[in-house]
Amino acid sequence: MSDKKDYYETLGVNKNATEAELKKAYRRLAMKHHPDRNPDDKNSEEKFKEIKEAYEVLSDAQKRSAYDQFGHAGVDPSMGAGAGHGPGGFSDIFGDIFGDIFGGRGPGAQHVQGGADLRYNLQVSLEEAVLGTDMELQVPTLVGCDSCKGSGAAKGSTPTSCTTCGGHGQVRMQQGFFTVQQTCPDCRGSGYVVLNPCGDCQGQGRVRHTKTLSVKIPPGVDDGDRIRLSGEGEAGPKGGPAGDLYVHISVKQHPIFERDGSDLHCEMPISFVTAALGGEIEVPTLSGRVKLKIPAETQSGKVFRLRGKGVRSVRSHVSGDMLCHIAVETPVNLSKEQKELVKQFDELLKKDKKNHSPRERSWFDKVKNFFEGMKN
Ligand SMILES: [Zn+2]
Ligand SMILES: [Zn+2]
Repeated sequence: MSDKKDYYETLGVNKNATEAELKKAYRRLAMKHHPDRNPDDKNSEEKFKEIKEAYEVLSDAQKRSAYDQFGHAGVDPSMGAGAGHGPGGFSDIFGDIFGDIFGGRGPGAQHVQGGADLRYNLQVSLEEAVLGTDMELQVPTLVGCDSCKGSGAAKGSTPTSCTTCGGHGQVRMQQGFFTVQQTCPDCRGSGYVVLNPCGDCQGQGRVRHTKTLSVKIPPGVDDGDRIRLSGEGEAGPKGGPAGDLYVHISVKQHPIFERDGSDLHCEMPISFVTAALGGEIEVPTLSGRVKLKIPAETQSGKVFRLRGKGVRSVRSHVSGDMLCHIAVETPVNLSKEQKELVKQFDELLKKDKKNHSPRERSWFDKVKNFFEGMKN
């Protein structure tokens, strides 16, 4: 039998402890008994190993359930079942614990707080997206304070070097055996403090302001595209670097054209006379009207491609095509006389032995074959 201590007891938690509770208990104990902090202390080293083993088992749902059912026999590596962990170095958990707690920031780097990035949703028409345009945006944001030039210090005074960190923005803290570097809590990394704050910005170095920005929308932008305006986001506090402004493009629906990448689609209704005899129609494009020849016997659904009349891509600079989808329109509102003529016309079609509706005929043939096939 194993004379090992109960894992829950080792971590000082009860049997129903949540994952978060386990982690918290583990961190607290691991910090306390970490061998680096207790050099040459055999007792602590042993304790640390126990804690680590207990946590490895209990933090794994499968191993934990085996342990709950069978005790150490369910997970003990020496019993041949479950866990399978080696003696384990200390370095592997080092990163986990200390990386999380102290943010893992590299030492020495002066961390000055920057301004936030901003997002501006801009709706443009299809024409504006295709041809490009210049836009003026009103952006409510934080800008550098004019009175103190962003320093946060009242007129006539200047910010003084922070005494806590000696102007470095970082402080070294002794955590037992370790020395860690942290952003200075007094100056928040800037290295200086304002003793006599500017009245216009309350020492923040920035104020609310709606600024007007000119933006160039390049020709060819599409729905979902993003334009980045570097440094046009919020000003940083106390003269920190400004964030960026991201203009998110959305394109309004167009009454005639539908865009598909660099191609444009449009529906062109034509009369059944034009469809039968052929003719010329005018097709709208974004660069004006163009003439399109409709050949005789054009059917509904036929697509005519106008090369290069689509959208010039913002990336490849290649122009797409315009695709005209033909819809043959059945005449409506016919007078008695017109109806009579259509009937006469139909009689004429039936008189000769020519096939005037090949699609209809082949469709009827298919239907006939279908029902005959069902009989067999
Ligand atoms: Zn100010
Ligand atoms: Zn400081």
